[in-house]
Amino acid sequence: MFEKILIANRGEIALRIHRACREMGIQTVAIHSTADANAMHVRLADESVCIGPPPPGQSYLNIPAIISAATITGADAIHPGVGFLSENAGFAEIVEAHGFAFIGPSPDHIRMMGDKITAKRAMIDAGVPCVPGSDGAITSEEQARALSDKIGYPVLVKATGGGGGRGMKVARSADQLAEALHLAKSEAKAAFGNDEVYIEKYLDKPRHIEVQVLADNHGNAVHLGERDCSLQRRHQKVLEEAPSPALNAAEREKLGAVVVKAIETLGYRSVGTLEFLYENGEFYFIEMNTRLQVEHPITEMITGIDLVREQIRVASGAKLGFDQSHIKFYGHAIECRVNAEDPLTFQPSPGKVTDYHAPGGLGVRVDSALYSGYSIPPYYDSLVSKLVVHGRNRAECLMRLRRTLEEYVIGGVKTTIPLHRRLLAEKAFIDGDYDIHWLERWMDGGKRD
Ligand code: ADP
Repeated sequence: MFEKILIANRGEIALRIHRACREMGIQTVAIHSTADANAMHVRLADESVCIGPPPPGQSYLNIPAIISAATITGADAIHPGVGFLSENAGFAEIVEAHGFAFIGPSPDHIRMMGDKITAKRAMIDAGVPCVPGSDGAITSEEQARALSDKIGYPVLVKATGGGGGRGMKVARSADQLAEALHLAKSEAKAAFGNDEVYIEKYLDKPRHIEVQVLADNHGNAVHLGERDCSLQRRHQKVLEEAPSPALNAAEREKLGAVVVKAIETLGYRSVGTLEFLYENGEFYFIEMNTRLQVEHPITEMITGIDLVREQIRVASGAKLGFDQSHIKFYGHAIECRVNAEDPLTFQPSPGKVTDYHAPGGLGVRVDSALYSGYSIPPYYDSLVSKLVVHGRNRAECLMRLRRTLEEYVIGGVKTTIPLHRRLLAEKAFIDGDYDIHWLERWMDGGKRD
């Protein structure tokens, strides 16, 4: 097992990883920008190294500085966390070339899944159903037209290197296709430096359902059930729940078996998530994330399995300590993403947290690096806390979530807590009756219905 891990990230996720390390008796090294000198992940780590000025390009994405920090502190492994370098195959290669273990999958698997076309091809070959669409990149408008006529409108133009919902444009009819292609390409070029796009059938009312997997280096793989992440704004997840209110046990088992078989076929190692759209009883693969997900705690709450601990164990070469038959699902869990943003306009709201009181009690988990007096810097993602609640069933979970949202105080900055409170009072949400477009329609006051 590793003795010292460098955590190449910040905020709540760095803290989350630190906690797993501590419980495993592993020393931690925090890295931080000058803006984060007083951050909680730095305060709690055994050692810390300042790696550069606030802009992420000069700090949390600065590979030479991160490798130097690992070298001078004598770390033996690097955990990339979520975002930043977590899906950067080149980084994983450099980490390994310098003699450190990379806590994640092999660079080849990161690369394969980072390109959505090669990911879809690999999944089709492994027997996973995908959204109908182009077999590869779109090379001309004529090709796009012929294909869209064949699969039928509406279609979605998506960036091959996409992420975070960027580089995606819908064409509802043939006369919108040229513009959708143009916009998706220019957005993709600006965001990812790669303007390659492909086309998929646009599903009208799907749910976003993703399956958590865990695999070791010895050919063992398991799934840990699904998460329903259909509540999204601009393709970004807002609230997630597990299990999905829309699936029954037989569907869960069937989907899980397809996923595990694919993971075994690919020889994948580490934690990972296969994302699907689910419509009219059918599942369609859209992408795989080769890292820990922000919403992983809800899976931990219903399975009792510490995903970060398992991720570290398998990265050190250990075998999975359990098989599929040992994984039991208990109760229901929901995560609210709390962002430092105006709950109506979604404008970021960085600044000093004047008061802080986190909710507690049975079945309540708050993953956050906030504290009273902390100043939220303006340079990074606005996610500042994940409020995660577990109940014996969905009804109990909703009651508990309502109670904790009433208790939660984050003073001095605006947060999305009021949005979650309003959502919890909404019948369609209470009934579990929503698709990926529901949240935006609801926030628009039904104008888009
Ligand atoms: P990204 O990598 O940018 O997150 P994804 O492929 O995971 O892109 O898609 C993000 C979200 O976009 C999905 O959760 C879903 O809401 C929507 N989406 C993606 N593909 C389709 C599709 N074919 N039809 C309808 N919505 C889609």
